[in-house]
Amino acid sequence: MYRAVLGPQRHLFLPVVPFSRRMSSAGAERRGILTDKVALITGSTDGIGFAIAQRLARDGAHVIVSSRKQENVDRAVEKLQGEGLSASGTVCHVGKEEDCKKLVSMASEKHGFINFLICAAGVNPLAWSTLGASEDIWDKVMDINVKAPARLVKLALPYMVTLEEKQKPDIWAKPDPRVSGVVFVSSAVAYAPVTPLGPYNVSKTALLGLTKTLALELAPKGIRVNCLAPGLIKTNFSEVIWKDKNFLQDMMKRCGFTRVGLPEECAGVVSFLCSPDSSYITGETIVASGFSPRL
Ligand code: NAP
Repeated sequence: MYRAVLGPQRHLFLPVVPFSRRMSSAGAERRGILTDKVALITGSTDGIGFAIAQRLARDGAHVIVSSRKQENVDRAVEKLQGEGLSASGTVCHVGKEEDCKKLVSMASEKHGFINFLICAAGVNPLAWSTLGASEDIWDKVMDINVKAPARLVKLALPYMVTLEEKQKPDIWAKPDPRVSGVVFVSSAVAYAPVTPLGPYNVSKTALLGLTKTLALELAPKGIRVNCLAPGLIKTNFSEVIWKDKNFLQDMMKRCGFTRVGLPEECAGVVSFLCSPDSSYITGETIVASGFSPRL
């Protein structure tokens, strides 16, 4: 038996299922999947980073949020704690090594270990073209978007939960759910560059290379390194694009997406990449862009 849907989707017909048969299974609750885990997230007082922090905390993790401005950190921590979530925070400009050390030591002193490092902070000084970009723009983009995530992994590694490295690994070992993971935030432009973004495209493609390289280097320790590549997501960062109707429409037509995404649509992917469900996935990038920019 089918039920017609009214409204804009009226061409759809849904099977009519008695309510009693639509109840969820007992034990199907997925919340708490990251209980007792500690997640450190850069660039997480707003936008995609904040949505990731919120989602990981809702999944049970203690989250440490961070960004450049103390008032933003305070606001984000307050918002998360106001929801009853376990959160703390500190200032960390990812381009400043001292700040990065402070962020890592906050986590290690308070908790003794780090399970997940999520590098969401990024910068995009509009260059309009790749060859027209100044040395300063190149340095800034590569420093914040590529070098900083690598530096943070290096600083966090001594506190990350790892497997004991053995000369002969146990090839039949079961996945160890305690082991740590890293997630970088790249962009769909890593695969489908947008001309005016110039060096930003290049930096986000480099981040895919960093993901693959570190996945190999850290595999013997059991650490998985993966990446999220969002498309156009409605945040302050991308305002310059989604507020420009002509630019937006041109981009949508060229790429084939039909709406602008939401930060929460990125957060679920990161939750999956931190969860035991992705225990055999490393060196991968998951695109969340409403279109497919690669083969
Ligand atoms: P957003 O809404 O502007 O939020 C950026 C966050 O990062 C804020 O919390 C900001 O807080 C912080 N931040 C900025 N620069 C930082 C720095 N140098 N060090 C530490 N924290 C910093 O941006 P978003 O759209 O969520 O972007 C997040 C990431 O997603 C970026 O890596 C971006 O490249 C990527 N991305 C975004 C889109 C999109 O359409 N939005 C698409 C693809 C990829 P403070 O101001 O307090 O520092």
